[in-house]
Amino acid sequence: METIEVLKNKLESINEKDYGAYQSLKGEYDYSKFKLLIDQIPKDPYAPPHTGIYRVKLRNNFIDQFNNIFNTKISKIAFRDFLARNFYKATLKKSKGRRGTGNSGIITIDKPEQAVLERNSVLVYKEIIEVRFFMGLPANGREINSQICKVMFFEELPEIIKLALFPENLDMSNLGKHIKTAEDAEHLRSRLESLNLVAFIEDNSILPRKSGTSDEPLDKNIAIPFKSPESLLVEIDLPHSGKTKGMGIPKGITLIVGGGYHGKSTLLNAIEMGIYNHIPGDGREKCISDFTTIKIRAYNGRYIEKVDISTFINNLPLQKNTTQFSTENASGSTSQAASIMEAIEVGTNVLLMDEDTCATNFMIRDQKMQKLVHNDDEPITTFIDKIENLYSNKGISTILVLGGIGDYFDVSNIVIQMKNYNPINVTNRAHEISSFTFDKRLCEGEEHQISIKERVPVKDCINPYNYYNKKSIYSTEINRIHFGKNIIDLIDVEQLIELSQTKAISEAILYINKYVNGKRPVKEIIHKLMCDIEKNGLDILSNKASGHFAQFRGLELAFTINRLRGLKIV
Ligand code: ADP
Ligand code: MG
Repeated sequence: METIEVLKNKLESINEKDYGAYQSLKGEYDYSKFKLLIDQIPKDPYAPPHTGIYRVKLRNNFIDQFNNIFNTKISKIAFRDFLARNFYKATLKKSKGRRGTGNSGIITIDKPEQAVLERNSVLVYKEIIEVRFFMGLPANGREINSQICKVMFFEELPEIIKLALFPENLDMSNLGKHIKTAEDAEHLRSRLESLNLVAFIEDNSILPRKSGTSDEPLDKNIAIPFKSPESLLVEIDLPHSGKTKGMGIPKGITLIVGGGYHGKSTLLNAIEMGIYNHIPGDGREKCISDFTTIKIRAYNGRYIEKVDISTFINNLPLQKNTTQFSTENASGSTSQAASIMEAIEVGTNVLLMDEDTCATNFMIRDQKMQKLVHNDDEPITTFIDKIENLYSNKGISTILVLGGIGDYFDVSNIVIQMKNYNPINVTNRAHEISSFTFDKRLCEGEEHQISIKERVPVKDCINPYNYYNKKSIYSTEINRIHFGKNIIDLIDVEQLIELSQTKAISEAILYINKYVNGKRPVKEIIHKLMCDIEKNGLDILSNKASGHFAQFRGLELAFTINRLRGLKIV
């Protein structure tokens, strides 16, 4: 450990030298109130943040005041999440940002979005808080600028740390709220099963988002708060906020219908995101869904490797065997069928679909089409003919947004109509319409049982090496991973919300390689990884102190692996 005087002297001695001279700063420095650890410095000013490793460690002065709240796992996660947010906000306030070439001058940390997540940018050991962040050491071209660097190290960084991590500068009531909100949400989710529900949406929630690119809530003056229909109202007692009322969506088959632009997709999106615990002020703090809820959509062009889609698709021209269906280029319907089977394979309980993003020929064959094209000439058994079986035999519920297909009334348990952003329970009317329709479509496909096979990846099929035979794994967008020679397209994996999750998943693919032995099924491999993370944290995914990982579900990892071109199944 060296004094900060040493750091100052080092900085002065390398002024105007080549960027490479920054390497001499590596080491540990004592700032008295905290310690700065510089483990890794990028070799040039353009290098992306994950190539630098900067940490601070300080005494956890919160334990004296907050000892009693760190009882649950979620409270610890929420505490760390809160500090990460604070640090991010403090960098915006106290750092002057980019000054010089490339990333010169920036001080930043992975940006937390609207959910409270386990993340490894802030860790707390009993007495110590560790924060991992990034500093772009400044240069003009490749010429070191010590003047700016000194400002960063001796003015901006200490101020950021003081503002973000010292209890005396924190709003303790906000911290308490952050933790309690997450605990209530977690509790709510744990109650769903015993109440026979798959989702709950609290009255007065704000579901719409600011824009297509922002996950923040729509302005309170414009947004219409959610209000449950009387007949679906459920009351739940929560540890911190007491009794809460809202709409409970029971297990089974639920339709969300209504005119265009009346708020159907917005409601479904809130249910999709109900797998997360939202931060206070998000508007969806008590919109909670079953943790295994998965959004399914059609996405043509995706990769599929030996998935049994025979439940839905049989006798394809040129490819007879759909019990092991593979393609480099799926159609809309085969992609949707494969995604459903892959989700069931790793243990989903709830499927969500929005007509907007489904393949029509996968969803329905109406009665006129049944008359024209004989069943024997149609490889697809449409979802409507399997949806009841999925629930009665496999316990898998479906929530479906529909604007145009009334035939689903026949197979529904609950029908909710969105009208001017208000939900109305129209189940009785829908069932009436259904029973008074005489010229109904025929039910097809009883002969195909729901067939789910465990798939076993071939040993060594996961290859992270690129064309230059160098290990190459990175992601700069939520929905895209560069993995070896391949790009994994995750556009249709809609429940990822942070780039840090994608980064963690991309490293997780490499990590699980050690469990891929040609005998273990996907589900078991993922279970093993999740146990390892549970036990030892997200840090196990990298041999460096990364700080760029956030928690993801096994389902998203499974979906990612399944989209890796090169995955081979035994
Ligand atoms: P649908 O799927 O029924 O066509 P959407 O859910 O896409 O409709 O909603 C249409 C528009 O209305 C979106 O811009 C959405 O943000 C907005 N919106 C949805 N719910 C509300 C609400 N409760 N209050 C205000 N605006 C809303
Ligand atoms: Mg819609």
